[in-house]
Formats: sequence, C-alpha cells, structure tokens
Amino acid sequence: MSNSPDYDLIVIGAGSGGVRLARMASQSGAHVAIVESADLGGTCVNVGCVPKKLFVYGAHVREDIEDARGYGFDVADEAIRFDWATLRDNKTSEIQRLNGIYRRLIDNAGVTLIEGTASIEDAGTVQIDGTVLTTERIAISTGSKAVVPDIPGSEHALISDHMFYLDELPETATVWGGGYIAVEFAGILAGLGVQTTLIYRGERFLRGFDGDIREHVAHEMARKGVDLRFNTNINAITSTAEGYELALTDGTTHRTGLVLAATGRVPRTEGLGLESLGVATDDGGAIITDDHFRTSVSGIHALGDVIGTPQLTPIAIEQAMVMVDQLYGSGSKRMDYTHIPTAVFCQPPIGTVGLSEQEAREAGYSVTIYRTSFRPMKHTLSGREEKALMKLVVDSFTDQVLGAHMVGPEAGEMMQGIAVALKAGATKAVFDSTVGIHPTSAEEFVTMREPATD
Ligand code: NDP
Repeated sequence: MSNSPDYDLIVIGAGSGGVRLARMASQSGAHVAIVESADLGGTCVNVGCVPKKLFVYGAHVREDIEDARGYGFDVADEAIRFDWATLRDNKTSEIQRLNGIYRRLIDNAGVTLIEGTASIEDAGTVQIDGTVLTTERIAISTGSKAVVPDIPGSEHALISDHMFYLDELPETATVWGGGYIAVEFAGILAGLGVQTTLIYRGERFLRGFDGDIREHVAHEMARKGVDLRFNTNINAITSTAEGYELALTDGTTHRTGLVLAATGRVPRTEGLGLESLGVATDDGGAIITDDHFRTSVSGIHALGDVIGTPQLTPIAIEQAMVMVDQLYGSGSKRMDYTHIPTAVFCQPPIGTVGLSEQEAREAGYSVTIYRTSFRPMKHTLSGREEKALMKLVVDSFTDQVLGAHMVGPEAGEMMQGIAVALKAGATKAVFDSTVGIHPTSAEEFVTMREPATD
C-alpha cells in the first residue's frame, strides 16, 4: 500500500486567486483539488467587481439618454422608465454563465472540484463535510467578508453582497463609509434614481487617494445629487414603519429606506481551524505569510484577501502565478506591490497609479505637480456640467513620474497604459515626447506643459 497523499495540493476557496492557483498548479503537473462552499468565482465574480461593473453601466444609462438630446435624439422624460428586476436578473444570468465558465476551466485543467466546507485537521489533512483527504500542501484562499461596525441596530444594515439581490430598489438609501464600495454604490444607487445619502466619519472620503481627486469626486458626486455628509457617523439604526431612522454623531437624525454598510472587509478564516493548528494571524485577522506565501505552519500556504495584501482580484491572481512558479516552476518570481494601478467605479470614475501628491511629499520627495481640469468633449454638445481631472506627480530632481491620477470617463481604461509607463520608470520628458492621440481626453496626459502654481 502506498503512503502517498491523495493530492499534491488542496486549495480552499475557488475565488480569483484560488482558481488560478489550482489550474496553473495542475497544468504544471501537480495533482490538485479545490474546495468551495459557495458559487464558483468568489467575491469578484458573484458579489463584487463583475456584477458591480454591470450595475455601474446600468446606472449610467439615464445620463446617456439625457446626453443624447444634445445630439438630436428626442427622448421624452416620460419615455425613460427603469425596471430594477430586469437589471438585477439579467446580471444574475450573466453571473451564472460565468460560474459555468469557471466550472469548465477547473474541469479542463484536470482539477478536482469538491463542493463543501473545508477545515484543516493538520498540515497534511483536510476535512470536507466529513470526508478526510490527505495532501502534501494546502493553500488557503478564502478571501474576505464585509464587516459592519457594532452599533445598536447594526443588524438592519445591508452589506454589498445583499445589494445584488434586492427585491426592490427603495426610494431613498444611505451608504455608510467612504471607501471603494461606498462611493461605487452611492453612484449606482443615485444613477438608478434612488435619492442617495453618503455618511462618512472623516473630513473627506476616499482616504489614501490624492487630495485633488478626493475633492473633485466629492464635487461631481454632489452635482449628481448625492447628499454627502462628512464628519459624521452613524450611532444607531432604528427600524421604522417606512424604513430606518439613523441617529448621527452630529446630533441629527436621518430617515432612509435602506442602509448599506460599506465599512471595510476582513479576512475570512472562521471554521478553518487556524488557531488549533497554530497558523499565525495579525491583529486584523489576516494570515501572516512570507514572500513565498508560506504561513507559520510548514505545508500550509495562503494568498489573496485572506493574507491582508491589497484586496484586489489582479493581486490575488498575480500571487497565484508567483506561487505556482515558486512551488512548481523556476522559483525565481516574487510579488512586486509597487505601482498597483486601480480604478474606483464611482461616477465619474477614478483611475490612479503610483504615489499621491501627499504620499510623495511625506516620503520626502520634492515634487512638481501638473494638473488639468476640463469638460470632456462629449459634453460640449450634451450640455452636461461634468469635468474631468488629470494630475501628474513628478520628482523635481529626477523628472520621474511618481504618480498619475484621473477622474473622468474611462479613467480605468486609460490608467492601465499609464501604469506600464510608470512601472518602466518613465520621466515627465518621456510623457512630453509622446505623441498624443487627438481628439481624446487621454492626450492631456502627454500635453500638460505648465506646472501647477499652487
Ligand atoms: P475600504 O477599506 O476601502 O473603506 C472602508 C470605509 O469604511 C472607510 O471609509 C472607513 O473609514 C470606513 N469605516 C471603517 N470602519 C468604520 C466605522 N467603525 N465607522 C464608520 N466608518 C468606518 O473598504 P470597502 O468596504 O469600501 O472595500 C473593501 C476593499 O475591497 C477595498 O479596500 C478594495 O481593496 C476592494 N474593492 C475594490 C474595488 C475596485 O477595485 N474598484 C471595488 C470595491 C472594493 P476611514 O477611511 O476613516 O478608515
């Protein structure tokens, strides 16, 4: 009888990182199983990036129709009707199609899919709903989950997961928080016709983003009718006959039809048995790993949101690729967490890469700032009062571009290419010597000649 384990690798969690890891490990010759207790694809596919982006498209349609009038298309207000159930259910069909694709990808890669809930018995044994499997290695990729602050009535608050399956859209809604999810859902709700309030405890939302970007987004969101309440927080939520009443820290109350808590996400580790195994976690509950994704217990690895690195799908996917190289390939790859471009799909959206002006100054750089704000060409005829903002943060001594930031249509699409330039160490002189594409908004990135004087 052979003593070899059932698998070379058991991956727990079939989200973006886990699925990529399982497939690539299998294609490198390992015998792999992946365990999932919910729908395939994890947060991103099911209740995150993908359905969110579909909702963002939906939320923009009303403006597109309004903008069409300046181009000669006569659409009467009464003709614009929106049916939430259609958007929600079409989105769900698309997500189910993607779940199917994930299933096929897993099958075609020769990975065994086990649907159930896993716990780790020891570094070489995983139990899935009573079935015990042995393995040479375990990789934990269980992701993260939304966290709601513990206040009276917090059970009335929804989290982003719920927003994708609402029976009905309320007339009014309140978004609690000032991060990615808060501003994205505030834009979605407002775009779909819900009277939306955003409550954020700090001076201005999107902490960590460039100050000009934060200010510009706040201005544009307010112009689109989102009621922004900064420097206040929710003390308590009470259920009323019509909806909810919020007691705010500024002493006022606010009535609303729905409360969405977008107050951060924490690593999802419960039930895995980490404590009894001695797998070390940090104060925030993230599994501590080294640059090979090894936890404190030999044979147990972890990647993605659960290890506390930036909670972004492309990060988890890249980590999976690096880990496969380390386990089954050349072993030379390491993660590089610099120059991570990111987009926030608020309306208008943000694209950003590199250092904010504030981060650059705090890091001791002497910086030159280039900034432009303009009305995108489309809105000359549409008549829409909406401005785009672009900004470059440049090292005054070396001329290297340290950061690029934008608010405006297609900011995410634009920033991917700019990120390549920054990663390659492009100087402002390289930007200046690059020929623009005319007429686009993007050409502004290579035509900003005069430093900002403030
Ligand atoms: P974030 O960490 O981005 O934001 C959390 C927000 O909640 C912050 O504004 C924070 O305030 C606030 N907050 C935290 N605790 C409290 C509290 N006790 N009371 C009041 N406010 C509180 O988390 P999100 O939930 O928005 O998103 C999680 C992550 O998911 C993001 O960081 C991002 O990595 C990822 N994501 C990425 C997207 C994309 O790429 N487009 C889209 C959506 C999510 P403060 O700033 O003061 O701490």
